[in-house]
Amino acid sequence: MPELPEVEMARMYLQATILLQPIRAVAVLDERILFGVSAKALELSLAGKQFISIQRHGKRLFLRLQDDLWLTLHLGLTGRLVYLQAQEDEPRHTRLLVSFQNDCSLAFDDPRIFGEVGLTKSPSILLAERKIGPDALQLSLDSFLEIMRGRRGVIKAMLLNQGLVAGLGNLYADESLFQAGICPRSRGLDEKELVALFSSIQAVLKTALSTGANLANLPDSYLLPHRHEAGTCPWDGSQLKHEKIGGRTSYYCPKHQKIVG
Ligand SMILES: [Zn+2]
Repeated sequence: MPELPEVEMARMYLQATILLQPIRAVAVLDERILFGVSAKALELSLAGKQFISIQRHGKRLFLRLQDDLWLTLHLGLTGRLVYLQAQEDEPRHTRLLVSFQNDCSLAFDDPRIFGEVGLTKSPSILLAERKIGPDALQLSLDSFLEIMRGRRGVIKAMLLNQGLVAGLGNLYADESLFQAGICPRSRGLDEKELVALFSSIQAVLKTALSTGANLANLPDSYLLPHRHEAGTCPWDGSQLKHEKIGGRTSYYCPKHQKIVG
């Protein structure tokens, strides 16, 4: 599932391909991908315009068409964006196809259709409507402490809650807790633990971005390269544990990740 680093890569990919290309036509190939807009309205809103800039917030992309009109994209579990050259066939599960006047096109391919396409007047309106919290990489330490302080929820579930902080999913939440030495089942973290967790989140996301969101290129001292049933902790050799926490399978080291709070 794409998390903040993967979505940031998608933003850069769009920035390098579709910006300022006049749109010739838009085809919604599967309406299940739409959220709060009809195929007709989407097609009419985009035709003849161009994407002026592209922003990301958490796991969402916002493509500006004009000051008060933005296309919104969420890649869901299996969504990906593919820029096609003229005559190139679109991917098999293309749900939305934007064709440009230069004969190239952008396909939103999404086999499982948990992705989402919509329109909004501004990113801030959509973020408020959907109750999305601040972006994990834009967030200051003070805001993070303000959001997390005094909450009694299981920390893993809180990190996955996009209403608190947007951008982390199952993998990078596990990695951040691993790096901070905090067991995902912990609750009620104190100030010092929250500060450690905040700095882990920042470091993990920045490291992931520096690898181009390629999990295979993460440092060996990270959990993710070892995050499988037979995996051992790269810090102390312990057998990694895995269990459902906050509804998702969580991997952690039973030795150096302490239950705190
Ligand atoms: Zn360990």
